[in-house]
Amino acid sequence: MDTLLSHDKIKEYALGIGFQDCGIAIAEHLETEAGMFLEAIRLGKHAGMRFLERGIDDRFIPESLLPGCKTVVVVTYNYLTDSTQATDKYLIARYAHIIDYHIVVKEMLQTLALAISEQHPGLRVKATVDSSAISEKAWAVKSGVGCIGKNGIVHNSHGSFFVIGTLLLDRVCDKYDEPAPKSDCGDCDICVKSCPVNALETPYSVDARRCVSYLNTEDKNPIYSELAKQKYIFGCDICQEVCPKNKKKIANVLNETKTSLFLPLENSDYECLDSETFSRCFARTSILRRKFYRFRQMIDAKGRE
Ligand code: SF4
Ligand code: SF4
Repeated sequence: MDTLLSHDKIKEYALGIGFQDCGIAIAEHLETEAGMFLEAIRLGKHAGMRFLERGIDDRFIPESLLPGCKTVVVVTYNYLTDSTQATDKYLIARYAHIIDYHIVVKEMLQTLALAISEQHPGLRVKATVDSSAISEKAWAVKSGVGCIGKNGIVHNSHGSFFVIGTLLLDRVCDKYDEPAPKSDCGDCDICVKSCPVNALETPYSVDARRCVSYLNTEDKNPIYSELAKQKYIFGCDICQEVCPKNKKKIANVLNETKTSLFLPLENSDYECLDSETFSRCFARTSILRRKFYRFRQMIDAKGRE
């Protein structure tokens, strides 16, 4: 008979590897969350992200991603550093200041999977970090890792400058964490009022059709002249920067290999950025996914402002 996974041991491994938080949830169908997600899709809030219309089961039924899945381990990785950009005009969101979190967190999840597997030979595992369809936010709440704020972002006692990863396991755990409350924002609506494009008109649900962060990172054909009126050229941190949950910022200690080479670039460096410098200075950051020509168009539009 399979031995039960140890809740405490998994958490100990996760924190030892460098994750900021870890919660463990029983793998079951998140029906309510799936219903809310479908409603947002029906209203068209997913903008051009047509892929969100597919694989709904994968988001909310872990078994459809890993047959026999019994347990969902949720981890967070703090991407906040004390890094600053030398430019105040071509701002880039904090999550992109470090080496692409898809790479960093995936490696850490593989280390975690290995540590658990050593105690449980034959264990089947699937790791995700913003890469599979799974709704990492919904699982963060289910595993008690944090609440979803009115800005649509998960926060907890560490704030919200973190990314979420999951490890799906085909074994039962000896205990599971309680879900977090749905929200603890109370009367606060600072993020709603601070959003420059009113993308949080319906709190807790970001309207991607307006959200700067979606438009300047994902949209293949944005209206650059409109986007150029905003502070950021890649991502947007405004609704997190204003959040009282982030008052006490905890900077992650990163070594040189994990921070980015673009931070010292000044306004004039952006204005004459060519593809070679782009590849060198933005190497291994999530910005490379945007492709040089789109990034360049954003800089040109901003330069004309
Ligand atoms: S990321 Fe920026 S544009 Fe998007 S909801 Fe937050 S403040 Fe608004
Ligand atoms: S700014 Fe206020 S309303 Fe918005 S997420 Fe933070 S606590 Fe919640």
